[in-house]
Amino acid sequence: MDLVVQKYGGTSVGSVKKINFIAQNIRKLRKQKKSVVVVVSAMAGETDRLDKITKKISKIPDEKEYDQVISTGEKISAGLLSIALIEMNVKAISLDPSKFNLLTDDLHSKAQILSVGTERIKNLLKKGFVVVVPGFQGVNSKGDVTTLGRGGSDLTAVALASALKATHCELLKDDVDGIYTTDPRLYKGAKKINYISYPEMLEMSSLGSKVLQAKAVEYANNLQVKLYVKSTSKTSTRGTWVMDEKNIPIKEKRIITGITHDLKQSKITVSGIEDIPGVASKIFKPIGSAGIVVDMIVQNISTNKKTDLTFTIPKDDLNKTVKILKSNMTKINYKKIIQDKNIALISIVGAGMKTHTGIATRMFDSLSKSKINISMISTSEIKISCVIEQTKCKKAIQSLHKEFKLG
Ligand code: ASP
Ligand code: MG
Repeated sequence: MDLVVQKYGGTSVGSVKKINFIAQNIRKLRKQKKSVVVVVSAMAGETDRLDKITKKISKIPDEKEYDQVISTGEKISAGLLSIALIEMNVKAISLDPSKFNLLTDDLHSKAQILSVGTERIKNLLKKGFVVVVPGFQGVNSKGDVTTLGRGGSDLTAVALASALKATHCELLKDDVDGIYTTDPRLYKGAKKINYISYPEMLEMSSLGSKVLQAKAVEYANNLQVKLYVKSTSKTSTRGTWVMDEKNIPIKEKRIITGITHDLKQSKITVSGIEDIPGVASKIFKPIGSAGIVVDMIVQNISTNKKTDLTFTIPKDDLNKTVKILKSNMTKINYKKIIQDKNIALISIVGAGMKTHTGIATRMFDSLSKSKINISMISTSEIKISCVIEQTKCKKAIQSLHKEFKLG
């Protein structure tokens, strides 16, 4: 079976015209006798709209019911695309995850995929159907809808490509035609990358690049599913391959591959804590149990046995985190909490950092020449991140892109 697994993002299904356009493309694939599984996102803006309505009713909505609401955007897209295909005389059917057993755990809004049933899909493909799957969701053992985290349609596509043993997974986009050295909307000098390794892409996604969901990249790496990111409309334009580093041609490799920024982080300082064993654990345990991802952590040097601890978390989780900290105030024993939403996380990513020295110095120098103050720093083997003032973000990208000659 010559199988193609494609995922279309929110902008690609953003209007009737666009839905008809991709239906035409899928029709062409069927004419070439290919079996096609399509994963769709919600129409652009739809998930945000549903999120806003829900949050108007409740700041911290019931998790099961929240998933019930925000999973509907994808279902609409899947139905609409199937209707468009049928209208063009292409056999098509939309198939909810509950119908083919895309099983997840119970962690609503951030569910992990446990298994993917393929029998029903394979049968439908054999009968000549295009199978259209609403992305971003699964079903738990109780039969409730769960969602896979924002951007989760990518994960659905990767999971299906792996389960159905496709050669690769195509991710089609209407707003970008591949992975760029930095966000082309913020910096005109950004260039398209032909090949990027899984770990680099994972860092880029985790650090703010919105092109692919981080969890999906991690999953693709673990299951060795090659990803091809390309344009929905510019069908002949070359896209970006995400794959194992060892398969990337040497001439395509650079020390720094990309620069990302993340404006969706916030910073919390818990001040006046005691400098004794167990305090950090008392702070982070309940936060971790709530499924909130803490990124950078810095603890200051203590004076008079008192100290501060600063960390970053997604802005979306700020209210929840503050609530958790307040309810644990006596247990943790701190003086106050300071929140800061006006930060940007700016990062440089590149596998070449493993073998080259002096990269951090060049980054700090470049930021200092642009008079940008760094308030937190963190590093890994292939990335360096700095927290800076949000208003300086664009300037930081420009100077770093020039410093590392990515243009
Ligand atoms: N619609 C969901 C979101 O906006 C999932 C996705 O598009 O991948 O996050
Ligand atoms: Mg997306």
